[in-house]
Amino acid sequence: DRVATPPDPPTVMPAFFISSADIRGTTLTLTGDLCHHLRASLRVKPGEILRVTDEQRQRYQVRVSAVAPQALSAEILDSKPGPVDAAPVVLLAQALLKGDHMDWVVQKASELGVRRILPLISRHGVVRPQPDRVAAQVTRWQRIATEAAQQSEQWQPPVVSDPMESRHFFSGHHATRALLFAERQNTVGLAQVALPTLSSETLALIVGPEGGWAEEELGQALEGDCLAVSLGEHILRADTAAVTALSIVQSRLGRLG
Ligand code: SAM
Repeated sequence: DRVATPPDPPTVMPAFFISSADIRGTTLTLTGDLCHHLRASLRVKPGEILRVTDEQRQRYQVRVSAVAPQALSAEILDSKPGPVDAAPVVLLAQALLKGDHMDWVVQKASELGVRRILPLISRHGVVRPQPDRVAAQVTRWQRIATEAAQQSEQWQPPVVSDPMESRHFFSGHHATRALLFAERQNTVGLAQVALPTLSSETLALIVGPEGGWAEEELGQALEGDCLAVSLGEHILRADTAAVTALSIVQSRLGRLG
């Protein structure tokens, strides 16, 4: 007897990021990677309804009218502006992590609404970027970030920067407030730290590698006006620390919970 396979659960299509330049009148025309992804991977057909978001946080509902190898066109049915985001911009400076842990942090941080991800090269980090592979690595993280942001219906994709030395970040960040997460230090807890309040301000969260920060880096961070902050008495893995810090901050800023 054949066992009946259960039907696939309904999948909700991500809200894809587009450029407002793709819109002419009431017609959206997509080319390049997104066209290829919709046609070849998601097998989108004429008549299907999609949601797309442009860089001005305008979200459109469109009906696909034609799908060809080089271009997909759709008619705009409806358009709504995204809500005004009154909270500060949050960025994550994350020391490079081993294996797929960095990919995981990039994905989760993007779901949690981070606007920029800066991979840091740190003293105790075991991963050093190979010059000939950096560009491909950043492109890959950017793709992971964009997909995660689309899936979680963010209003804009985060930007992933090229890896930089931690000391350069500490001395050159322009964040309104930069919080350096450091365990085993006599530091203030994240819940007690005053956060910036204006949308024109930036909050940087800085998380170390598996091996933690070197003493020298802690000194450079303090000199660079970063505040050492604790997540509590337990030592979290770096990827857990990043996601925990972001969840607490986004909740305090009203974006989560
Ligand atoms: N090897 C270090 C040790 O044993 O002390 C632990 C480093 S921890 C696995 C990796 C990173 O996560 C740290 O550099 C820090 O940024 C963050 N982290 C983990 N637990 C934390 C905590 N309780 N408070 C603040 N930051 C924490």
